[in-house]
Amino acid sequence: MTLRIGCIADDFTGGTDVAAALRRAGLRTALVFGVPNDTTTLPADCDAAVVALKSRSTPADEAVADSLAAQRWLWTKGAAQVYFKYCSTFDSTPHGNIGPVTDALMDAAGATVTLHCPASPPNGRTVYQGHLFVHDQLLSDSPLRHHPLNPMTDSALVRLLSAQTRHRVALIDWTTVRLGTEAVRDAVLAQQQAGVRHVIADALTDEDLAVLGAATLELPVVAGAAGFAEGLGHAYPATGQATAEPWPDRGRAAVLAGSCSARTLEQIAHFYATGLPSLHLDVLAAATGRDVTGEALAWYDEQDPTLPVLIYASASPEELAAVQAQLGVTEAAAQVEELLGTLASHLVERGVRRLLVAGGETSGAVTTALGVRAVLVGEEADPGVPWTYAATRSGDLALMLKSGNFGAPDLFTRALTEAK
Ligand code: ADP
Repeated sequence: MTLRIGCIADDFTGGTDVAAALRRAGLRTALVFGVPNDTTTLPADCDAAVVALKSRSTPADEAVADSLAAQRWLWTKGAAQVYFKYCSTFDSTPHGNIGPVTDALMDAAGATVTLHCPASPPNGRTVYQGHLFVHDQLLSDSPLRHHPLNPMTDSALVRLLSAQTRHRVALIDWTTVRLGTEAVRDAVLAQQQAGVRHVIADALTDEDLAVLGAATLELPVVAGAAGFAEGLGHAYPATGQATAEPWPDRGRAAVLAGSCSARTLEQIAHFYATGLPSLHLDVLAAATGRDVTGEALAWYDEQDPTLPVLIYASASPEELAAVQAQLGVTEAAAQVEELLGTLASHLVERGVRRLLVAGGETSGAVTTALGVRAVLVGEEADPGVPWTYAATRSGDLALMLKSGNFGAPDLFTRALTEAK
């Protein structure tokens, strides 16, 4: 079977988000980490594949090159349509990378029109009259105007995108969207004939996004946040394969945490308070050459194999500041990532078959250490936090990669103790 849709996400968490959305729409979906190459393989029978890049804040030419490489690879897997996933708050600089990447993907595909919609109604992101709202505020009045990397001080999407492309940008407003699929298809065609290349569409609800999806199945390149991708996913005929997932039925369960985000610290406290075995890694001791990995593995071997364990480097803001003052921020992070990556390999070799990893960078370190390039996306334990399935040297693994602030406070305990 060949892919129906391929996605390119401009950051890793966005990749997980859109992969979970496609899976919710009933598509058997794989998630690929980083630019794939000839040796990157997909799990069998996928309907959709998402390539998660780090191209949101990189120089535009790098973002374009990585996105084009991902598009070529998706085409080799049969994807007729490519979806460019960016943030639901349109995070970008005044000159990119949303415009340059979309234009490059369209040029490569020979496309002359595309539709954009960054709405994500469950998260309060809606588009009305071409203006992006975050709950009841315009984007430019919301806290996103103070974002450290991409401060968003304008909410008018036609204006924002026009600054990032030399092509024409226009709006299909909600009065058309509410008329349904045919009306949107006709409006896109009319815009294309008028020389518009980027069409922005209003959307207030998931139903609006389903209309947009059904209207744009034939476009080679489409773009937006996870909601529009889910709308497209619903428009493709369901294969019913999303349920046949290779959940490993034997083996131990573990959490490895490297995130110092407030929510992860709460999840660690919840796990500890439940009385489950947990171990804090001494990062400073590891830096002085103590065999912290060996000690952690010896501790792991002594634990009751029926219980999930937690091993964490995560630290309170005070402790983190003290470690960083001594080792330097980059060196401290490198030490922790090396430590958790090595531990992940050893734990999987020792029979861990359900592994929850907390932290974006930490997840990158763990998947690299395990040699995992692509995973099949499974059920969400919490919004935006799906189980995934990976093949490793030591066997099949259920892997949950969690961005620091995601998941409810009881996620670790619940995800690892609930019977499947
Ligand atoms: P999040 O998703 O919460 O941002 P990340 O894993 O992306 O989490 O980032 C957390 C960073 O903090 C990682 O680079 C990790 O190596 C580093 N880190 C974790 N624990 C410690 C610690 N005890 N001392 C210093 N750095 C740490």
